[in-house]
Amino acid sequence: MMKKTLEEINEKIKEGKAVVLTAEEMTRLVKEKGPEDAFKQVDVVTTATFGAMCSSGVFLNFGHADPPIKMTKVWLNDVPAYTGIAAVDAYLGATEPSEKFHFYYGGAQVIEDLVRRKPVVLRAEAYGTDCYPRKSITTVITLDDLNQAIMVNPRNAYQRYNAATNSGSKTLFTYMGKLLPEMANITFSGAGELSPLMNDPDFETIGLGTRIFLAGAEGYIIGHGTQHSPENGFATLMVKGNLKEMSPEFLRAAVFEGYGCTLYLGLGVPIPVLNPGIARKTGISDEEIFTSLVDYSYPSRNRPVLKKVSYAELKSGWVEVNGKKIKTSPLSSLFMAKKIARLLKEKIIRGEFFLTLPVERLPERSTVKPLEIREVRAEQFIKVKKDIPEQKKMYKDDSLCFHCGHCLSICPSGVFMKTEQWEIKSQPERCSGCGLCLDACPAGAINVRK
Ligand code: SF4
Ligand code: SF4
Repeated sequence: MMKKTLEEINEKIKEGKAVVLTAEEMTRLVKEKGPEDAFKQVDVVTTATFGAMCSSGVFLNFGHADPPIKMTKVWLNDVPAYTGIAAVDAYLGATEPSEKFHFYYGGAQVIEDLVRRKPVVLRAEAYGTDCYPRKSITTVITLDDLNQAIMVNPRNAYQRYNAATNSGSKTLFTYMGKLLPEMANITFSGAGELSPLMNDPDFETIGLGTRIFLAGAEGYIIGHGTQHSPENGFATLMVKGNLKEMSPEFLRAAVFEGYGCTLYLGLGVPIPVLNPGIARKTGISDEEIFTSLVDYSYPSRNRPVLKKVSYAELKSGWVEVNGKKIKTSPLSSLFMAKKIARLLKEKIIRGEFFLTLPVERLPERSTVKPLEIREVRAEQFIKVKKDIPEQKKMYKDDSLCFHCGHCLSICPSGVFMKTEQWEIKSQPERCSGCGLCLDACPAGAINVRK
């Protein structure tokens, strides 16, 4: 059976002997010579995409001020960041709008400014605790001041996108760009035959642990992305990379008027040609990749599909609908995708980028469920903290206890004890009712005895 191992390919890369083609070059080669010959000739195929990836963001660690603060609200250049994590960590999402400038300056713009080493104003508020007494802070940071800046993107590199048009009478401003009335234009996204997931639709080589090019840095695929739907040809990737190593050339903030801010990202995935089957798959062409042309004039989840169109048609500049030729244009940059595929190819040829195999494959099946609207109040589901009564005896609810052991040092009466395995047991009959333990248990497992 004809096959190569990843180790053999990495050895060839090390020796400067690996044959690397971009996915577009591979498409031509497979067409000309067939997959078996292409497999024999080629070791790695580089794929790439550069497009608006709203589902992107960065985890930032600011370090501790003196006195320290447990940040409960954080703004970076007046853009709110999510801080419901550790004291001085925050997650800044690309599409978060500024409180002052709305979506004309949002999370994506802050991320780009950080990568450009521009100063950014950090403002935080807190309720103050005994261990973190500070209640507010305002300062200026740059990317180099941060301990960590880790990009973690829940949904990137869609395998393909629907193409969009607008049969209505007014212009629409959407995540698919500006859609002119009366179907005067069609927009599309994705790199077609260059798209990473289009070249490995069965996830033979793309999976958890695959090393990738992410905005100029080495990144990794950390699993399938949200809304991953491979059966429908809409697989997605979750990726991570070090923001400090990224380049503004491959990470650009953008604004879609009327819709919001977003982050354009360059992502490249090398595919090792391990067998003729992979050669055949990487030989996919734009003529073979179809997507739905959807009418966005319907304000509904289920918009009508006008027809199926190929990426070859979409890239040609025109698509015919009901006898009318309609102009098409991409939203993602094919120029940049080609550039990244070439750059990754050159890095591999120079022995600067080695390939990994996934430690876990991406799921081949996944259902994307709609959000149903149901009448409900949050209070129905929320357990509110109880008051602390005095002189009432306590008992430990074993169904809630996770055996952290904190109560061991709190109880003066020796009610709690640990076994050799650190299981925490209790002897309720010893309880004096002092009440010290009730507000110490993080699991809420210590309760008032009835
Ligand atoms: S503090 Fe609470 S969760 Fe921890 S061991 Fe004691 S009862 Fe269990
Ligand atoms: S109420 Fe006091 S004596 Fe009783 S278990 Fe808690 S800490 Fe121990």
